[in-house]
Amino acid sequence: MFSRIVHQLKTFAASGRALLRKHIGSHRQSGHGDPRFYEWIKTGKNRLAAHVVDHISEGIVVTDSKQAVQYINKAFTQITGYTEQDIVGRTPRLLSSGKHPPEFYRGMWSDIAGTGKWAGDIWNRRKNGETFLESISITTVRDRSGSALNYIGVFKDVTVQRKLEEQIRFQAYHDSVTRLPNRNLLEERMAASIASVADGDRFMAVLFLDLDRFKRINDTLGHAAGDRLLKTIADRLTGCLVGEATIARFGGDEFVVVVPNLPHTDDSSAIAQKIILLLTSPFYIDQHELYVTVSIGISHYPIDAAEPYMLIKYADQAMYKAKELGRNNFQLYASGEHPPLLQPLSLELSLRRAILNEGLTIHNQPQINAATGEIVGVEALVRWQHPEWGFIAPVHFIPLAEEIGLITLLDQWVLRQACIQAAAWQQQGYAPIRISVNLSMLQFRQPNLGSFIAETLSQTGLAPEYLEIELTESIVMSNPEMTMRTLHQLKEMGIRISLDDFGVGYSSLNYLKKLPIDTIKIDQSFVRDIPQDPDDRAIVQTIIHLSHNLSLSVIAEGVENDEQLHFLKLHECEEIQGYLFSRPLPTEEMTRLLTAAPHLS
Ligand code: C2E
Ligand code: MG
Ligand code: MG
Repeated sequence: MFSRIVHQLKTFAASGRALLRKHIGSHRQSGHGDPRFYEWIKTGKNRLAAHVVDHISEGIVVTDSKQAVQYINKAFTQITGYTEQDIVGRTPRLLSSGKHPPEFYRGMWSDIAGTGKWAGDIWNRRKNGETFLESISITTVRDRSGSALNYIGVFKDVTVQRKLEEQIRFQAYHDSVTRLPNRNLLEERMAASIASVADGDRFMAVLFLDLDRFKRINDTLGHAAGDRLLKTIADRLTGCLVGEATIARFGGDEFVVVVPNLPHTDDSSAIAQKIILLLTSPFYIDQHELYVTVSIGISHYPIDAAEPYMLIKYADQAMYKAKELGRNNFQLYASGEHPPLLQPLSLELSLRRAILNEGLTIHNQPQINAATGEIVGVEALVRWQHPEWGFIAPVHFIPLAEEIGLITLLDQWVLRQACIQAAAWQQQGYAPIRISVNLSMLQFRQPNLGSFIAETLSQTGLAPEYLEIELTESIVMSNPEMTMRTLHQLKEMGIRISLDDFGVGYSSLNYLKKLPIDTIKIDQSFVRDIPQDPDDRAIVQTIIHLSHNLSLSVIAEGVENDEQLHFLKLHECEEIQGYLFSRPLPTEEMTRLLTAAPHLS
């Protein structure tokens, strides 16, 4: 319907212009801007032409060679509000809206001077002050010598039409709930970016975001609230992404962020981390306090694929890995694995608050040199300081933190606090000791682990040799190739690595030999039964010998009595940790212990 009207207008305009040209032509001989011609138009001597010109819906303006208006038709007045009295003798600049820079008009006039015509859209102002968009074509009438006699402008008001067209285009390329670009627009932009990075040494990152368990919010609060939440999330995301990044909604609870022109692939990890953090603070929808986490998968052009469609598909696959690894994390295409668990909701909410509002604390358990009795290190063990239930041990909430996707935030918090504390003790003049921090599988698999730790060390001022990372045997053995890369990276930074809970997993001796680790930590289940169980004694003895053969040091955890200590010392286990010496202590108590007993025996 719309296009038909436009077509008719065009045909009309063309015939109107043709008529005008013909008659101006036939009056040319009478000279420059011949008044008889305008007289002819006005008095309607040529009835047909006059009728067309006056009833055409397009505005017509004729000026002389100096752009002084000589004639306007009725439609001109209808569109602009200016009458003959207002404008004849003046220039059409009277209508200028000020929206176009002077170069715009200079370009237009230079086209007209060169080719004799110009067509395009101009923002003008009506007599009542309102701006409007006109689509105008300007042609020149020349005399026989080629000098301009008149300029004829034929225009129509396209304000509404353009608005409609824009709306239609917007709808075709945007999501109606969030007003973000949709898949079509995203793929177009990706293709354009690929063309521009094609021969450079830069990367484009595609981040596939899927909100964790968003369906639950939709199911409990309804779709309208779900939509409002999506819009708020979209706004928050848009606010954090700068430069050339595009964020698109892919339907449901999926978003895709494309960042072209990255100097390094690592940069995408920082962006993912930023997005995860950005979503940690609560959303308030209809008086509900809602928490949202997101799983992110990342692919890179040109490393992973060359076509937008494939890049999105790979980022999507990586996102599934992030989900499997416990949600609220990001994964690069081609890495990671882990099964999730289930937990009740209210506990989840209070743990979430504890982690986000620092309702956690760290207890420190000393690690002792078995021969000298010196405190050589402390293990940082997290506690949830619950307002009603007191200190809660990690076994009760670490699996939940993994399930709700907050384990990486928790681990990062612990790591940071531990480094701050270790550096503080050194500054207070205590002999430097190691601080051991446990890392979850998920944290260990974060692609930017190395840079995160490096940053934490530099921010807290702790030298890397005083930081030890404890990884359980099962974490290390779950993906040996990947582990190897990460461990080497940590080793190169000068950090110590300890293999926690050793003996309960299934270490391949072959791997153990190649792993860049410093210490093996004998699991407390073997230590516990040293006095009663000859098998456990044999196992402990074997682990110690094995470690020494591999030039690794050994620490026994869960040492509670003298018999255990005696056996361990006898077999030259270097270090001891357990209730016999100290339970894990709050920081003040640990500091007192460092003051009172720098040498325990
Ligand atoms: P783990 O790394 O093997 O830590 C040793 C656990 O043994 C600690 O339990 C400690 O309190 C306990 N323990 C120490 N000495 C003795 C003893 O003589 N006898 C007995 N029966 N137990 C002793 P906790 O603090 O409950 O931690 C349990 C586990 O939670 C840790 O095992 C570690 O895997 C995990 N964990 C603790 N803090 C963190 C953390 O910040 N991040 C992560 N990801 N995991 C943590
Ligand atoms: Mg440990
Ligand atoms: Mg352990």
